[in-house]
Amino acid sequence: MKHRHILLVGASFSGAVIGRELAEAGHRVTVAEARSHVAGNCHTERDPETGVMVHIYGPHIFHTDDVEVWAYVNRFAQFRPYTNRVKITARGQVFSLPVNLHTINQFFGSTMRPDAARAFIAERSDTSITDPQTFEEQALRFIGRELYETFFKGYTAKQWGRHPHDLPASILKRLPVRFSYDDNYFSHEFQGMPAHGYTALVQTMLDHPNIEVVLNTTIDQAAASGYDHVFYSGPIDAWFGHALGRLAYRTLDFHRFSCEGDYQGCAVMNYADKDIPWTRITEHKHLSPWESHEGSVLYREHPRECGPGDIPYYPIRLVTEKQMLAEYVERAQAVRGITFVGRLGTYRYLDMDVTVREALDTARHYLACLERGTAMPAFTTSPL
Ligand SMILES: Cc1cc2nc3c(=O)[nH]c(=O)nc-3n(C[C@H](O)[C@H](O)[C@H](O)COP(=O)(O)OP(=O)(O)OC[C@H]3O[C@@H](n4cnc5c(N)ncnc54)[C@H](O)[C@@H]3O)c2cc1C
Repeated sequence: MKHRHILLVGASFSGAVIGRELAEAGHRVTVAEARSHVAGNCHTERDPETGVMVHIYGPHIFHTDDVEVWAYVNRFAQFRPYTNRVKITARGQVFSLPVNLHTINQFFGSTMRPDAARAFIAERSDTSITDPQTFEEQALRFIGRELYETFFKGYTAKQWGRHPHDLPASILKRLPVRFSYDDNYFSHEFQGMPAHGYTALVQTMLDHPNIEVVLNTTIDQAAASGYDHVFYSGPIDAWFGHALGRLAYRTLDFHRFSCEGDYQGCAVMNYADKDIPWTRITEHKHLSPWESHEGSVLYREHPRECGPGDIPYYPIRLVTEKQMLAEYVERAQAVRGITFVGRLGTYRYLDMDVTVREALDTARHYLACLERGTAMPAFTTSPL
């Protein structure tokens, strides 16, 4: 097979995994990254003052049920066991998350067992709502007004900048409550944290003789010409010069502060009340519990609407955005030689494990296309 020269735009998990797979298959790979570092939003960096490993773009915990993905990331980093246990401050008290039997008993001042709690919550749910359409209806239908107003309403409004009655029901899982004392935030089989951070992991992935990494370089259509194929993990609307408008995102402002000792006793503390402007505080040293540091670095997280020049974090996939996305997808499908990948390329919220899975599948798809002599599509997973 003739070896190709392939351009990967973006050096986070999408770019690094596809790049690595194609480099191992013998192709020449250039990975171009706009930022001064690899690993995208998963980037971690040691704070020079305290030595704490900081998750620069917000806390990232790797969790998956995908055996192949777990084995894959473990090839490039040693993973330490880590269980995400999140707390929430609401109405002057600290509760356990996700809402579980402990939260319910604390909140209602009770000692209910699972079946009693299930019956109790069922009694409080609004059964007049038979076909919930909005986030608010979904919450009222399944957990009742008290839990909804305390734990979901204010937090959701801050996170999305919209009242929960203007958000789709699909944002809230069917029954967002556990009738057990399980406070493990994720229910996946594998969960952990790379011992030396995500950036070291991605650097190891990119460390291959066929891979060249170019930092501080933003790629547009002109800069991407001359390659045999382009995999683009930047924003799909930016690739087309926002010709059809800007796809909406929420961005985050992180207000950093530091202290000596232990500020909050856990990695992530959510804040449910609407009058507290931040959604959560992350105490980074608790994301590496196997390390010990005197000093501590914290981020207060403030979500807001994403403007030009801000970092896009969470895609807002409401009706208007989906319409605009469909038009961008149509444009993308008319172009040859480029495949749109990852969180921004397909305008979807993707966890890291899903990103790695899709990147592995995309690389294999490309190699199969080369072998068969068929064209590589613009998407390997439909963004719609
Ligand atoms: C606050 C927050 C917390 C999260 N927590 C978790 C978690 O706990 N667990 C989990 O599994 N997932 C988590 N995620 C999701 C995780 O961040 C994504 O899965 C991952 O970042 C997706 O990787 P990616 O390669 O698609 O994109 P990104 O990480 O967004 O990387 C895209 C890269 O492309 C670069 N780029 C864009 N355009 C261009 C261009 N034109 N030229 C050159 N470079 C360009 C960008 O600079 C960026 O580095 C979280 C996400 C957020 C927002």
